[in-house]
Amino acid sequence: MSSPGFVTVTSDLLDALSAVAGTENVITDPAGVETLSKDYYWYSPILRERLEERRASAVVKISSLEVLRDVVSLAAKAGVPMTPRGAATGNYGQCIPLYGGLVLDLSGMDAILSIADGVVTAEPGARLSAIEAAARPKGWELRCYPSTWVKASIGGFISGGSGGIGSITWGGLRDDGNIKQIKLLTIEESPRIVVLEESESLLAFHAYGTNGIIIELQLRLAPAVPWDQMIVASRSWDALLDFTQAIAEDATLPKRLVSVLEDPIPSYFKPIRKFYPADHHLTFLEVASSKTAEVRARAEAAGLTVPHVIPHHEPRRAPMLSDYTWNHTTLWAIKADDCITYLQSGFGVNYREQIRLLHARFPGEMMFHLEFVRGAARHGPMNRVSCGSIPLVRFKDEHRLKEIIAYCTEIGVFTANPHTCYVDEAGRANDFEQQRALKHRLDPKGLLNPGKMKTHPVNPFVVPGSMPQFLFA
Ligand SMILES: Cc1cc2nc3c(=O)[nH]c(=O)nc-3n(C[C@H](O)[C@H](O)[C@H](O)COP(=O)(O)OP(=O)(O)OC[C@H]3O[C@@H](n4cnc5c(N)ncnc54)[C@H](O)[C@@H]3O)c2cc1C
Repeated sequence: MSSPGFVTVTSDLLDALSAVAGTENVITDPAGVETLSKDYYWYSPILRERLEERRASAVVKISSLEVLRDVVSLAAKAGVPMTPRGAATGNYGQCIPLYGGLVLDLSGMDAILSIADGVVTAEPGARLSAIEAAARPKGWELRCYPSTWVKASIGGFISGGSGGIGSITWGGLRDDGNIKQIKLLTIEESPRIVVLEESESLLAFHAYGTNGIIIELQLRLAPAVPWDQMIVASRSWDALLDFTQAIAEDATLPKRLVSVLEDPIPSYFKPIRKFYPADHHLTFLEVASSKTAEVRARAEAAGLTVPHVIPHHEPRRAPMLSDYTWNHTTLWAIKADDCITYLQSGFGVNYREQIRLLHARFPGEMMFHLEFVRGAARHGPMNRVSCGSIPLVRFKDEHRLKEIIAYCTEIGVFTANPHTCYVDEAGRANDFEQQRALKHRLDPKGLLNPGKMKTHPVNPFVVPGSMPQFLFA
């Protein structure tokens, strides 16, 4: 436990925590603490090396708001760092404590409080799959969710995620009023509840749990649709992109997923390889069941094949094609070849040319899967549909990764850097000044996930010169 600034939780505080949370909910055994201190940070070879030694001193499993209040109060009095944790599927080390102290495991605060009038109200630990399962019988479904939806919590999605399946219609979490309300607990000796409504709630969005603990939130839902899943295959990249872009931009076509996977990426998907021919580029779609015949006809008319369709089924559960898209693509690729890592890219309307340039400049080093989304028109309107990617990269070293990112910037490809655990280095378009102001207001002593908002001036635990340096730092 020798990482710089590491805060050990004293036995007096552990006793007090046990009294309010229950002895069985205060974890101090090293193996348990290690497991509950980590997320999918190992996706990045850089984070893997820099964060390996970082862990909490103890973990408290929280089952209710009352327990959370008492725990926060005790830890705030003691001046101990606290790092919230949902399901720990985040892939930037967001919930790995940099300075020891306590991990607060909120997965037990998982009540779905109501689903009414197109809004779900839930506690932060509620799993997205549980919300989807509860919403569908009432005629609603999530507007967007990450490919980790089976395990991921709604609080973790708001604090660490951005969008995913559904974003082709509803944009990302930050768009279109998708988040209605967030209730936060302050980090003080007498914790208060602060309610952020509508656009103000974005101040706590994608903040890596640094500016208040989410205790309840409201998301807007979409009317439920029966979704068929379809695989479209082609040896021609351009023909597949022509078809897929037209589907993505067709506003009359209800759809939840539009992903394109460049050959050889589909060869990594061992469990579903039997559903499509080898050596083909693929498009994975979720379209309304009522439109499946039409989409198939459009694909075939374009000279493409449709090797597999999975008809809608209830309840919707894994395995699903979306288990191979978004950042799950990276997971399957790393399973097949642990030298692979990734970037997160936003392309322009000239995305085909940008991909061609990247292939030409870094031959054999990058593989692309494209995720079409609505609204994130960072690089031009493109009929209000834009094209992002989580490109797979054969990792050589940090220098080469920097070269790739620099060239991306040169040709107009935006990179959200996944090789840092600092929210303000990750390149997302957050209003950091406002987020820092909220942190000052809600966490005046800087105890919440300290260090992750790197530019926040209050960090009582920092040891000068010892903050881990990541790519770009
Ligand atoms: C294979 C794979 C695929 C992925 N695909 C996607 C994707 O499609 N889209 C996407 O957006 N993300 C994706 N992710 C990232 C991640 O899975 C999602 O963002 C997920 O929603 C995080 O939820 P979680 O419960 O696991 O959060 P955690 O990892 O537990 O936490 C994430 C952050 O939120 C904070 N936090 C957790 N709970 C609270 C709370 N109650 N209050 C305040 N802060 C809190 C934590 O401190 C941490 O900083 C993927 C990751 C992996 C490994």
